[in-house]
Amino acid sequence: MRPTASVASPILSVSNLEVVYDDVIQVLKGVSLAVPEGKIVALLGANGAGKTTLLRAITGLLDVHEGEITKGSVTFAGRPIHHLPPTRIAALGIKQVLEGRRIFAELTVEENLRVGGHVAAKQLRTNLERVFGLFPVLAQRRKRTAGYLSGGEQQMLAMGRALMSEPRCLLLDEPSLGLAPLIVQQIRDLIVEINAGGTTVLLVEQNATMALSIAEHGYVMENGKIVMDKPAKELLEDSDVREFYLGLGAEGAAKSFRDVKHYKRRKRWLS
Ligand code: ATP
Repeated sequence: MRPTASVASPILSVSNLEVVYDDVIQVLKGVSLAVPEGKIVALLGANGAGKTTLLRAITGLLDVHEGEITKGSVTFAGRPIHHLPPTRIAALGIKQVLEGRRIFAELTVEENLRVGGHVAAKQLRTNLERVFGLFPVLAQRRKRTAGYLSGGEQQMLAMGRALMSEPRCLLLDEPSLGLAPLIVQQIRDLIVEINAGGTTVLLVEQNATMALSIAEHGYVMENGKIVMDKPAKELLEDSDVREFYLGLGAEGAAKSFRDVKHYKRRKRWLS
């Protein structure tokens, strides 16, 4: 399947990607996706669909997990990157914020941010102030041990750390996971602000409402394949997406969690 994200030229594109873990477990089965420069693209999918695996393939982190790209390609700014090591990929301007916000719990907020900035000392100070400007709560807590921050603050710290090296493209893996609705709103607004500053965003989310409300384009992944690929507005209107991800029936009434779970068990996008 060819990606159809936008007429704008993609800064990041994935083509027919196949990934296998432990030489035998095929998790990605020909995934194609395009992220236009300067936009937000959402990637939706249930647990185990392969979203994190796709991010690992883009950032070169499959090795660590005994995974391997067996077919297909990833290109960034027109250049193939799927054979490059993670450090080279990061240096080209792709940064991933891992699911579960892996911060250094024993380090202070400021130390965590300094670790993220692979730049000269003067630039480091500028970037630190820029990140503190974006996340004022981190500035207030700059000397605090990161492990004592709230979940939302830790998510902001993980995002701030990724921004310290001024990436061109930010990959966010479920930034809203486990956060209260009000904090999810804040994270959502921050993603919009980061994007408005010129950073392209690939947003992996199970919170489809949040992701599709800010993305220009969305992909739905199931069982290692892209099964839907549409402008975000159209995905929000799609009856399958509304029922499956938003828990809304055709009449707009919210379904119970049990109903949605039941639906998840019987629903198959692909026969
Ligand atoms: P989640 O939101 O639950 O993380 P996901 O869509 O990100 O889901 P992945 O984490 O990419 O999905 O996992 C896709 C499949 O690959 C799952 O069946 C998972 O068990 C399997 N998998 C992930 N990592 C490994 C690994 N290191 N070795 C073997 N199988 C793995």
